[in-house]
Amino acid sequence: MKYISTRGKDGPIGFEDALLSGLARDGGLYLPVDWPRLDDDEWRQLKGRPYAEVAARIMSVFTDGEITLEEMTSLARDTYADFAHPDVAPLVEIEDNIHVCELFHGPTIAFKDYAMQFLSRAFDRALEARGKRAVILGATSGDTGSAALEAFQGRDFVDIFILFPEGRVSPIQQRQMTSVIADGAHAIAVDGDFDACQDAVKALFRDLEFRDRMGLSAINSINWARLMPQIVYYATSALALGAPEREVAFSVPTGNFGNIFAGYVARKMGLPIKTLICASNRNDILTRFFTSGRMERRRVEPSFSPSMDIQISSNFERLLFELLDRDGEAVRSQMQKFSETGEFDVSPDILDRARVLFQPFRLDDAGTVDEIKHSYASAGITLDPHSAIGVAAARNARAEGSIEASVPIVALACAHPAKFPSVVEKAIGIAPALPPHLSDLMEREERMHHCTSQPEAIAALLEAERRQ
Ligand SMILES: *Cc1c(COP(=O)(O)O)cnc(C)c1O
Repeated sequence: MKYISTRGKDGPIGFEDALLSGLARDGGLYLPVDWPRLDDDEWRQLKGRPYAEVAARIMSVFTDGEITLEEMTSLARDTYADFAHPDVAPLVEIEDNIHVCELFHGPTIAFKDYAMQFLSRAFDRALEARGKRAVILGATSGDTGSAALEAFQGRDFVDIFILFPEGRVSPIQQRQMTSVIADGAHAIAVDGDFDACQDAVKALFRDLEFRDRMGLSAINSINWARLMPQIVYYATSALALGAPEREVAFSVPTGNFGNIFAGYVARKMGLPIKTLICASNRNDILTRFFTSGRMERRRVEPSFSPSMDIQISSNFERLLFELLDRDGEAVRSQMQKFSETGEFDVSPDILDRARVLFQPFRLDDAGTVDEIKHSYASAGITLDPHSAIGVAAARNARAEGSIEASVPIVALACAHPAKFPSVVEKAIGIAPALPPHLSDLMEREERMHHCTSQPEAIAALLEAERRQ
């Protein structure tokens, strides 16, 4: 499988090249040149199979010629071996035909582990084969950073630097990052919000001289290999609920648009996904887009669901590329306009096409607390604030009739409730306990750097700290 850039000026390149570089050299994001499909028989054969086997089957289609099905099977087995639940991504029915897919059974108890644990192994493999080193630079609004530091720590040929907005991640998220004490692993507290962190990362990637000299790689959700493993739980959930014969809908708490875009890919691969609910918190740029066709950036407002406190959803560019019939020039000019003016529009017919699949939903902090309360009282399930937004969106779609009763809705539960204990405690009066492997987390030693969001300052820190 070959990959091209959403901005039309990079590629086609192979899977491992796309993996190692992350962001395309023209500023765009990599996507496969076309969408591979499995036919209904092939999907049926995956029903009820172990998670790692389904993962290997799906992912190997995208690495054809570079990582074989056999190699992918051993990679996937290794990736998911230590997850705390035998099903890896189990489904729990919360109400009639509304299911929660629990994506918090990895080491840092958020769904980012499902991709990051794979990514670190794929990196290892590719760098080893090439006899190369890499410097990973990423920005996080919380969960990506902990998952990345956890997955990449201690690799001999990778240094990892993770920027996070100081004071805007939860104490547990922060400690998960800063308690990774390993050579080559660096958590950097940045004076600024998530978008400032992400802008700095993008600026350093645009500096091609710096990028090549450092062997810079991106592992935030713009990396195609981050998206790929996320297709898998859409497939296991849909198959468990009756696909390929039966249509299924998903409700996805959304920030950077990575997780939900994986749902789009799952549909392109042939799964009968009827609707993807794009659920946001008060930072509702995507909700407004799917309502009006206008992308309009506003200031990021802190909320109870910090991993969704984003106003520039990087992965949206991939959907835009699809909506604009894969016209890289058109994407480039829209993104240029967005970066200069903070807004762009799509035509009504393009919006209509997007709305065939995507349905917007927005929930504020009070509604989030209400949903945590409601799910606890009615189903005995403790949701984290992000997951609560997805569940509320599913209930709402059912109640308003936009998704009929016969179509199962799967709400993705993106984090363990113990990752956001203060909001959960506010809602139900009980602070959920961390799972056993993290029970001493808050007593662990911390180590971090502090930095401004100036790209030059961050570049200097990388130069000083990276191992040669
Ligand atoms: C990352 C994250 C999200 C947002 O996912 P995107 O892929 O960025 O849209 C939502 N909830 C939680 C808990 C997360 O960690």
